[in-house]
Amino acid sequence: MEKEGLISKVENANFEKVQYYIEKVLSESPDYCSCHRCRLDVLALALNTLPPHYYVIPSHITDRDMGSPWILIEIAVREAFKKVALCPHHRLPLKEQQDAAACNI
Ligand SMILES: [Zn+2]
Repeated sequence: MEKEGLISKVENANFEKVQYYIEKVLSESPDYCSCHRCRLDVLALALNTLPPHYYVIPSHITDRDMGSPWILIEIAVREAFKKVALCPHHRLPLKEQQDAAACNI
């Protein structure tokens, strides 16, 4: 049995990959909103569509890329940007907030 304290936390292997790809898309597509709320919505949507891949830190796996393949990351992030652009939750007037809430994202 391992000593307590050696296991510090559990992380999602796709988290940093999705964050990286969000920045990549924003640098290539200035039409997408880059506000904090839209970034978080894209991050949550993309992570929810990817297969779960959690791991314990410290990890015994050090020599391979973890998480989903980059092509799946790209598809998930681009689809999430499209959904968020249609139904943004950032500082909208009340009526538009209510409309956006109906988008279910
Ligand atoms: Zn925004």
